[in-house]
Amino acid sequence: MSRPDVTTLRVSECFLSIQGEGPSAGVPAHFVRLQGCDVGCHWCDSKYTWGVSGGRESTVDDILDEVRALGDAPLLVVTGGEPLQHDGVYGLLKQALLRWPRVEVETSGIIGPRMHDERLYWNVSPKLPGVTARWEETWRHAGEWARAENATFKLVVGNEQDRDDALRLVAEHGVPASRVMLMPEGLTDDQVLAHAPLVVDTCKAHGFRMSPRLHIWLWGARRGV
Ligand code: SF4
Repeated sequence: MSRPDVTTLRVSECFLSIQGEGPSAGVPAHFVRLQGCDVGCHWCDSKYTWGVSGGRESTVDDILDEVRALGDAPLLVVTGGEPLQHDGVYGLLKQALLRWPRVEVETSGIIGPRMHDERLYWNVSPKLPGVTARWEETWRHAGEWARAENATFKLVVGNEQDRDDALRLVAEHGVPASRVMLMPEGLTDDQVLAHAPLVVDTCKAHGFRMSPRLHIWLWGARRGV
């Protein structure tokens, strides 16, 4: 017999690692990577999640039981793909907040904030014009995200045009500097290091924070880490 309260989502992978980016970088974390995204970033490091062959259907309970069975961690990261393009993600987050002291969502921001909890954090990564033709859609809700509690903007910078675009868009949307992290673009450690000086200089000049890419440093662009 079907249970009307069961929510299913398409999940790509679950794993235990450390948070590699953003304000909690370095914290041991469970990851739930949902399948599906149509934002189309050219440097996307999880293109395998774009199509349905990159995931499987699972219930919220089964997903959370699966990650809990991997070991202990104080943080759950819900990522993708684009988690907010799943109707069931809010059910997942509500259940996750019953089991983890802190939950983070990695999103492009293409959908605005629809849920609040003091232990729920949003790592919002709207895209710059050089990354995808849909970049403007990812900034559509930036003002709402900038006013939302627990939201940090994480902008990926790979060249001077990205830097200029990031500065312009942050100013246009009224994002406070204290909410902004810049992260060097790169799928290899060499690429990240090559872009890091520009990010450091920009952070120093504008009061932003720099985000590492610890998983790239440690393991390269591999799945499940
Ligand atoms: Fe990849 Fe994220 Fe861009 Fe989607 S929004 S294409 S998952 S980088």
